[in-house]
Formats: sequence, C-alpha cells, structure tokens
Amino acid sequence: MTTGRLLVVEDEPSISELISINLRHAGFTVVTAATAEAAREVVDRELPGLVVLDWMLPDRSGIALCRQWRSESRTRDLPVIMLTARAEEADQVQGLEAGADDYLVKPFSPRTLVARVRAVLRRRSPQALDDAVQIGALKLDPSTRRVTCQASGLQTEIRLGPTEFRLLHYLLTHPERVHSRAQLLDRVWGDHVFIEERTVDVHIKRLREALSVADCAGMVETVRGAGYRLAALPQAVAG
Ligand code: CA
Repeated sequence: MTTGRLLVVEDEPSISELISINLRHAGFTVVTAATAEAAREVVDRELPGLVVLDWMLPDRSGIALCRQWRSESRTRDLPVIMLTARAEEADQVQGLEAGADDYLVKPFSPRTLVARVRAVLRRRSPQALDDAVQIGALKLDPSTRRVTCQASGLQTEIRLGPTEFRLLHYLLTHPERVHSRAQLLDRVWGDHVFIEERTVDVHIKRLREALSVADCAGMVETVRGAGYRLAALPQAVAG
C-alpha cells in the first residue's frame, strides 16, 4: 500500500481533472482511471491509500466495484468515497451498504472533497496524512521528517533511515495494537513486495537502536509469537 497515493475513478474527464488537481494541491499523489475495469487493474497492481469512486461508470457501476473490493480480503479495508450525481436518499443508503466510507453528491466543491478525503484517511489510514503524530514522549512530523523524543525534560532528535521512518510512522498511527510481521510488510513495505518476514525484525532492531539514544527503545515491544506493538509508555527498565 502506498498511503499518500489516491485513485480517482471518474469517466467524465473534466471532473476527473478537477478532483485530481485539488488532491495534488493537498499533497497527494493521484492516479486516475476512467472505467471500473481500469480501476480494478490499478488496485490489483498496488493498493492505493484511498479511492474516490464515481457511481456511474461506462462498463460497470461503482457500487458493484465497491462491493467486490469489500468481498476480497486484500481490498476489504480499502477506504472508498463514492461520488454520485443522484441525490436520492435510497441511493446513498445503497452506496453505504456497499461499503463506501462516505459519499458526495455532485456537484460538490473541491474543498469539500479534500476535507472528506482527509477525514476518511484520518479515521482509516492516518499515516497517509502529513499530520504530526505523538505518542507518549515520541513525536514524528512527516512534513519536516523529524522525529524527536522528549524525555527527562530533554528533547532529543532521532535519526532514522527511510524504512525505519515509515515503520515508526505506521506504528505511531496504530498504537497499542499488535501487528504481525506479515501485516507490517503489507502496510509499510507495500502489499506486492515480496520480502522475507525476518526483514521486519532487522528494521525493528535498527529502529530500537535509533530510539535508544533517547531511552525510547522500550516503546517498541515484542509480543511473543504475535509480532510488535508500540506502547504509549516506555516499559520500566528492570534492575
Ligand atoms: Ca460517471
């Protein structure tokens, strides 16, 4: 999954362009598709962070496509915002029943769309956004790429490689949850990247080494037999 990469599925070129321009201005990378089939191919290649999906497409309805994504384990959690030209309430209910996270009725203001996209991402995949995130003493700011740890009244800057940075960003936006190595590979490395699970261990070790300069290494916990978890409070150091 590439989190800041959004897919816009819309067969009307002027609307597709308007949406794309506004999302790019908001800092996202945008891929477009004009048919349901093209959209399915894009998603099969690489999961986007979110899909803006038009209801009426030339080959198949957006509803049917959304339903299909929801029925498959790989795409089940893909955030989807439906676009519809029809304001009837029954249609909106149908859209939400198909599993859309939100819907917008045309015509809509581009600003509203960007706000809705950010709201859905904040809920579903906060690491797709540039918001600074802080858990306990540890703070990561994607816009400046700075990681700091505030401990014992001292602020220490932590230097991370690009993979450790993405890994920490994911963990900070999904704290207190146990992540298996396979899940971390999917979410941090991308779901079509074939890497051995022990690669995760290597990068966790590097991340802990980097965090240890600020006594924050204990925040990344190993959950035996399950994976890793980022905990808000550092574990007490024994002895
Ligand atoms: Ca259409």
